[in-house]
Formats: sequence, structure tokens, C-alpha cells
Amino acid sequence: MIPFLSLKEVTGLHAAEIQEAVKRVVESGWYLQGAENERFEADYAAFIGSKYCVGCANGLDALIWIFRAYIELGVMKLGDEVIVPANTYIATILSITENGLKPVLVEPKLETLEIDQELIEAAITSKTRAVCIVHLYGRNAYTDKIGEICRKYRLKLVEDNAQAHGCTCAGGRRTGSIGDAAGHSFYPGKNLGALGDGGAVTTNDPELAKAVRTLANYGSSAKYVFKYTGRNSRLDEIQAVVLDVKLKHLEADNAHRQKVAAMYYEGIHNPLITLPERLPDAQNVYHLFPILCTKRDELRAYLKENGVETLIHYPIPPHKQECYAAAEWNRPKLKLPVTEYIADHELSIPIGPTIKADDVGLIIEKINSFH
Ligand SMILES: *Cc1c(COP(=O)(O)O)cnc(C)c1O
Repeated sequence: MIPFLSLKEVTGLHAAEIQEAVKRVVESGWYLQGAENERFEADYAAFIGSKYCVGCANGLDALIWIFRAYIELGVMKLGDEVIVPANTYIATILSITENGLKPVLVEPKLETLEIDQELIEAAITSKTRAVCIVHLYGRNAYTDKIGEICRKYRLKLVEDNAQAHGCTCAGGRRTGSIGDAAGHSFYPGKNLGALGDGGAVTTNDPELAKAVRTLANYGSSAKYVFKYTGRNSRLDEIQAVVLDVKLKHLEADNAHRQKVAAMYYEGIHNPLITLPERLPDAQNVYHLFPILCTKRDELRAYLKENGVETLIHYPIPPHKQECYAAAEWNRPKLKLPVTEYIADHELSIPIGPTIKADDVGLIIEKINSFH
């Protein structure tokens, strides 16, 4: 069986270094808010190209804190609108609704699977305060036009960079440093993954960074002084040290993913299957390798029979989820055919920093023999 992703192998790639670093923390007697967090935050900010990085408990919290900080700073208020792609992981939408803001779902392009820049302007109202782009599947979603729209209408540009650590936009800037703030997830399966949960916010805005840091630490502005009603949402020292080790290898790990993707692009030829438009490698770190198939469920079963594990990202789009069935912004007339098409036809095939060329060749062979 070729697994979708073996986390055991991923950790195994850098096991000795990770063990060594973890041992150092275990023996230090200091487990939260210490030197390891500071080091990782500095290293990750430098890597992304942002002035500030604030570690927090997970990627969902990172995004929640960005919007909450904008509310606390008076930039946004309850009921304001955030434009966001309709085809994203639920966490992007949760971070908006959790703050009493209203998601305005915009369709992606079927060719790129990323938000359609041509549909953003029409979605803007007097209540719009931000555009939240998602670099879904590890692909850069930023375009100059999106930047221009945000400047023209004075909207904050928030990036969900949970799947795209190390990716760059066409201009060469790293995703996560392009907008006003970015949320990052270090969930184990992500390109930069911890051995548990972790997340971070990057930004060049000192006020925003300070508010996020305060919110993620009970809302505490000084010891036993509470400025906001925050929560305990911190990155611990063990995860910080693991992430700092893995950050050094991230570009090599991403390069392996890009090599695998090149094999898929060159090798997959099946009239039932469409691949997303290929971007230059610098603009795609291939967190996932999504394909579209007219007989997706049959293909998935066929690959399983032939020893290839696949996943669907994502089978039910946010606007079809039970949790949002009664949401005021989720009107029954909300028609999102492209998003629904992707949910019904997308299949993610194995990709990662450890998959072997022989296995990739076998997957290609099986995909091509499907009819
Ligand atoms: C993983 C993910 C998140 C949430 O990150 P967690 O660390 O799992 O909370 C947010 N957005 C996207 C697009 C993700 O893939």
C-alpha cells in the first residue's frame, strides 16, 4: 500500500536532529514562553520575510486572532464582511464567523482552484473590510489585481498560509508576507509540521502583532493585567524547537514535492482527468496534488484496489455544512457551482517529502490505466 502521507517517515527524515533538540528542551526545565519560541519566531519571520511572527496554539487560532485583533484595534466591527474563497478548509470560514464577522463566499477558478480575482470587486459592499485569500493546496493565490483591489477599497489583505509554507508569489515575495497579516498552521501533515498542534501569525504591523500576542496569552498585557478577554493559545517550547529544526529542511522538502509534481504533470495522461494549470515551481509548494476526475469515486476505489491511498479535499464545502445551515449569510439562493463541482470531482493523490520515484511511477501507471 502506498500511503497518502506517512508522518512516521516524514519525522524519520530528520529524526536524530529532532530528538536532540527535544532532549535539550526536556532537560532545560523551561516549557513555555521561552528562548525556543523566541528563536523560532525570529527564524520563521526571517524565512517568510515579515517583521513579526507570533507563535500560537494552531492555525485556526492564528486566523481567529488576526480578525479578533482587528476588532480590538477598531479596524473591524461585528457584522463587517470578509471576502473569502468558497472552496477552502472550514477553518478559514470559522475564523471569520467566530469573530461575528460575515464571510462573503467567492468562487474559485476551475483551472487554478484558487479564488477568481475577477469576481472579487462585485462582492465588495460598504461593509467589506478585508479579503482573505487562501493559498490552497500549496499554490500561490495572490495576484497583483487582488493587491490593487485591496488598496483601491482600503481593505485588509489577510492570507491563510496554512498550506503554503515556503511558497512565493509572482513578484517573488513569500506567501505570508504579501498581505497585512497571515495565519500559518503547523499541523503535523502540513509542509512545515510540528509533532502536535502549532500555528503562527506573521505581519509587518507592530500594533497587530502586539494585539495577537496579548490575545493568545489570556489577553494579558502585563503580568496579572488583562487588556482583552483572551485565551490560552500559545506555542510550546517543544513544538517550537521541532519546528525550528524542520524549518532548516523545508526548502529541500518542498523541492522533493516539486519533483514529484513534475512527474505527475509529465506522466498523467487520461482523458477522464484534468490537472490544475501548472505554475512555476516557485509559486507552488504542493502541499497536496489535486486532480479532477469525471468519475472521481470510481477512480478512488480503483486506486485503493491497486494499493494507492487517496483523499478528497474537501468533500463538503463550508456553505453545505450543517454548522452553517442556518447562517444568515448562507442564503439558500447562494449558488456556488464551481465550488460544488470541485467538491464532487477533486481527488488528492500522494505527495510529500518522502515518497519515492518508483511509487510515483506506479501511481501514474495506475491512473493512466483507469477508464
Ligand atoms: C490546516 C488548515 C487550517 C487550520 O490549521 P490547524 O492548525 O489545523 O488549526 C486553516 N486553513 C487551512 C487552509 C488549512 O489547511
